[in-house]
Amino acid sequence: MNAPTSLPVSMPIPGHIDPVPVPRPVTPREDGRTDLIGLPRPQIATLFQDAGLDAKAAKLRAKQVFHWLYHRGVTEFEAMTDIAKTMRPWLAERFVIGRPDVVEAQVSTDGTRKWLLRTADGHDFEMVFIPDADRGTLCVSSQVGCTLNCRFCHTGTMKLVRNLTPGEIVGQVMLARDALGEWPKGSMASAADDLDLDEDEGSYTADGRLLTNIVMMGMGEPLYNFDNVRDALKLVMDGDGLALSKRRITLSTAGVVPMMARAGEEIGVNLAVSLHAVTKDVRDEIVPINRKFGLEELLQACADYPGASNARRITFEYVMLKDRNDSDDDARELVRLIKQYKLPAKVNLIPFNPWPGAPYECSTPERVKRFAEIVFEAGISAPVRTPRGRDIDAACGQLKTAAERRSRAEMDRLAAEKQAALG
Ligand code: SAH
Repeated sequence: MNAPTSLPVSMPIPGHIDPVPVPRPVTPREDGRTDLIGLPRPQIATLFQDAGLDAKAAKLRAKQVFHWLYHRGVTEFEAMTDIAKTMRPWLAERFVIGRPDVVEAQVSTDGTRKWLLRTADGHDFEMVFIPDADRGTLCVSSQVGCTLNCRFCHTGTMKLVRNLTPGEIVGQVMLARDALGEWPKGSMASAADDLDLDEDEGSYTADGRLLTNIVMMGMGEPLYNFDNVRDALKLVMDGDGLALSKRRITLSTAGVVPMMARAGEEIGVNLAVSLHAVTKDVRDEIVPINRKFGLEELLQACADYPGASNARRITFEYVMLKDRNDSDDDARELVRLIKQYKLPAKVNLIPFNPWPGAPYECSTPERVKRFAEIVFEAGISAPVRTPRGRDIDAACGQLKTAAERRSRAEMDRLAAEKQAALG
């Protein structure tokens, strides 16, 4: 396949030049109950107070409920054994403990798992778990669809449907823990019964977990859904709940420069940047957000990223596209830029993962090797990422759901059928 020519800059593709999302609102639940997942603890207390508890009781109940939700992973109020039996139905009438619905779960021959998930209002998105010998990484989505239109990314061919809520983002982590059987059993036997846990099955130790790391590298651009991603990751890091260290969480951005400092200050997780090209022409073409926030600005924002150091390096992701960004000169320019901006950096070289109709091919293994050598010889770590889960379309850039392929008329017909079935 020939390398594509640059897109004319004047081409008015919505989202291409100014990809500010115009997400749809979240549809409220039909039963009028409030989903507690995704809410900060003080807000849970406020809701309890609004529902009639006095301030002190509300605060205590919020603390207990929070622990059950995020530390123990229960999905029923009935399982909250230290809450009075009469109180549990009171909670269940007003609140729910949501999880995204699992539409489909697939396992790759290499052990990678992919879940097709659905929001309560019917939008599909994906989540991927990548097990390795020494760690397990959950790849979490931040949006349904994406506004960025990166030319080599399959998700980029979807429209943005909507931002995921904090509950839907943290819900992915909860769901992964459910699926991997990784909630602590503790000493409250009835909770274990309710969770249907088998006592013999992989008893819990904090460091024996499968899920050890989280990367915000699923569908969507996390920095275009900043508030929700921040609120969700705060829950993921909360010491009384899921308690994952910020050092084990990485947020990846294609380069939403104005939000990068806030990400460092307000979330404080590791940063990855989808760089993919070292010249304006090529980056404008393959990562179109570059036309809005250029390379210099982006690299300066990396140099200023709070918390980056030699111990906590910024990861530069670099997809290897045949004859597009993979020359020796590109490798040398990458090294030069990293040195010019004095970036504590490592480079992740990602062999391009193909998808139907993609306008690029993967660089040859020899080319990838040579590129890696040039970067490595300059003293910069440059591992080549082994593609994972390609057979189930779970690899980087392969996530795409069928949602937007359905026409509006078809969606209406499906809704009418569902209504009829419900009588
Ligand atoms: N929007 C954020 C989060 C997505 S992360 C970002 O761009 O960083 C997904 C990663 O996979 C990004 O680095 C993306 O550039 C990369 N990617 C996308 N399509 C790919 C493909 N076909 N092959 C390999 N990597 C790809």
